[in-house]
Amino acid sequence: MENVGEKKPGARLRLRVTATAESMLRSGHPWLFAESVREQNREGETGELAVIYDRKNQFLAAGLFDRDSPIRVRVLHSGKPQRIDGQWLAGRLEQALAQRRSLFDEQTTGFRWINGESDGWPGLVLDRYDETLVLKLYTAAWLPRLEEVRRLIEQRLKPQRIVLRLSRNLREPAENRFRKADGEILAGPPLRDPVIFTETGLRFEADVLRGQKTGFFLDQRENRRQAASLARNRSVLNAFSFSGGFSLYAARGGASSVTDLDLSAHALAGAKRNFSLNHSDAAVRSCRHELIRADAFDWLGEKVKRKFDLIVLDPPSLARREAERTGAIRAYARLASLGIQQLARGGILLACSCSAHVAAEEFFAAVRASAAKSGRKFEELQTTGHPPDHPATFKEAAYLKAIYLRL
Ligand code: SAH
Repeated sequence: MENVGEKKPGARLRLRVTATAESMLRSGHPWLFAESVREQNREGETGELAVIYDRKNQFLAAGLFDRDSPIRVRVLHSGKPQRIDGQWLAGRLEQALAQRRSLFDEQTTGFRWINGESDGWPGLVLDRYDETLVLKLYTAAWLPRLEEVRRLIEQRLKPQRIVLRLSRNLREPAENRFRKADGEILAGPPLRDPVIFTETGLRFEADVLRGQKTGFFLDQRENRRQAASLARNRSVLNAFSFSGGFSLYAARGGASSVTDLDLSAHALAGAKRNFSLNHSDAAVRSCRHELIRADAFDWLGEKVKRKFDLIVLDPPSLARREAERTGAIRAYARLASLGIQQLARGGILLACSCSAHVAAEEFFAAVRASAAKSGRKFEELQTTGHPPDHPATFKEAAYLKAIYLRL
């Protein structure tokens, strides 16, 4: 790994860090922030391996250096000294694959193979959509090593195709020195149409070249499954529906009707196509499907005359940074209140949050408070977190939570 995309290192890049950073790294935290670097033997290049030493000059950790990111080093390994090379990287891939070996059968061909830091691959995500793999990078530090990573993945997983996706910050000109484009095909034939894959037997399309995340919200599979088990004979509102993931599950689970509500016409068109893709399923076929293009806050606030028996609220992240945390908690509470107003007696509310800046307990408390304020009796069915193919091993990585209430 060290020889790939790297000039022959003269002196290894060595860093010393603050005492606080030292104990964070020791406890397994995968990030070293720029302001925690006390000493550096020379300027570093993005993508080169940096070795971090403690106050006694003992090896502490090694990771990928990123000279332009506030996260200056993303840790690959900490603890005992370790040679980090191609073989080591191959071992890391095996670990991620092994963790998922017993999770999915052939009914599910869309899931996450590698979930960044939490799988020991900092800033790198690998999703499977049937025969197409999507490699998404959140740090430029992988770009000089992309060819090595691509070869490894290709040899091990033998996909038909590998698509590269870049997080927004990597699409900027400053990163273009690596001449890699978002949506580039790294291996296999070109792609014009969305990829079709299955999730627990349901067929979905994913716009892997341009779509949000890597084209689909694979992280909500377990909540969708749960929603299906609660949907029989119910009228369902799927607010912030995107391409109708929750709706298809509800329909298959026996919902009498499902309403997709989203701001994006493009997302709703996708939901319509996803229903068509599953027309062979009798329950899906007989479920009434309705599409509403509107702002969910406005639409729910207008005191719609209809009531629903199951309402899913899965908004985009309402806190993109720490400063937006308090406002976001208020918005989640308001949204839950609006949803509860449209909920029929005995109806179920499934409220989700994907904001890493809002802690699970804060979010749950906000939704419970809204339920209490409604004056209706309610019962908490359950709360959920990350699905097993999206592990979150440190605080900043944990973003997904959901709470189920019956009112
Ligand atoms: N539940 C979906 C994922 C939701 S992603 C799934 O399981 O696949 C969030 C969605 O909210 C996006 O489709 C986006 O278009 C939509 N959205 C964002 N702001 C909105 C608003 N104010 N009102 C309605 N939809 C909105």
